[in-house]
Amino acid sequence: MINLLKLQRLDTNIADCIQKEKELPRQKDKFFIQKERLAEEIKNSEEHCRKIQAEQRECEAGIEQLQEKIKKYEGQLPDIKRNEEYKAVLHEIEMQKKQISNKEERVLVLMDAHEEALAKLEEDKTRVQGEISKLDAECAAIDADLAELVQHRKALQAKRPELKEEVEPQLLSLYERIRKVRVPAVVPLNAESCGGCFMTIRPQIVNEIMGSEKVHTCQHCHRILYYPDNVSLSGAETIEESA
Ligand SMILES: [Zn+2]
Repeated sequence: MINLLKLQRLDTNIADCIQKEKELPRQKDKFFIQKERLAEEIKNSEEHCRKIQAEQRECEAGIEQLQEKIKKYEGQLPDIKRNEEYKAVLHEIEMQKKQISNKEERVLVLMDAHEEALAKLEEDKTRVQGEISKLDAECAAIDADLAELVQHRKALQAKRPELKEEVEPQLLSLYERIRKVRVPAVVPLNAESCGGCFMTIRPQIVNEIMGSEKVHTCQHCHRILYYPDNVSLSGAETIEESA
């Protein structure tokens, strides 16, 4: 029975490893999300720069158009005979010039804003690069942990055939059958009840288990029962530590 318990302990450790092997990669998910968020930040910064430049180009094109208009008006001036009309065209030229000067002011503001946005973009890129490096390092650490875990699990699995040999074939096949549906498959008898399902075990059976006469399974959950005092737990403990 002690050998079966050792085998069960090994199987539990292997199962724990497999569980952790599944969970570990999930820890990287949040790092991927953070990386995406950082990339988004840079994209927004770049977009901001582009918008400023686009507006600047629009202003400059507007200025050119207004200058064309002024040229046209100025070209008309020598041919105008009527004073009223002359004044109106002059007024029109004045208006266009005012618009140009507004746009020129806007261009200066935009040039400043663009310079500022570019500086911020550079700053963001440096900061984000640093943060991404950190996240990559975290992911690499998780990968290293995972590799170590896989190695550990394989070492445990390599020990299994040896431990299996130590268990009586009939008991082993019973154990293998039960553990497919219930884990742990081997449970202690607690007072007079099953350590797995906590149902009461018949006194006759309890006596036989205590006397190590026969291997019994719980009639309710079908787990293999053992009497803790009959097995040296310290031996099983050692297995756990070395595993
Ligand atoms: Zn039971």
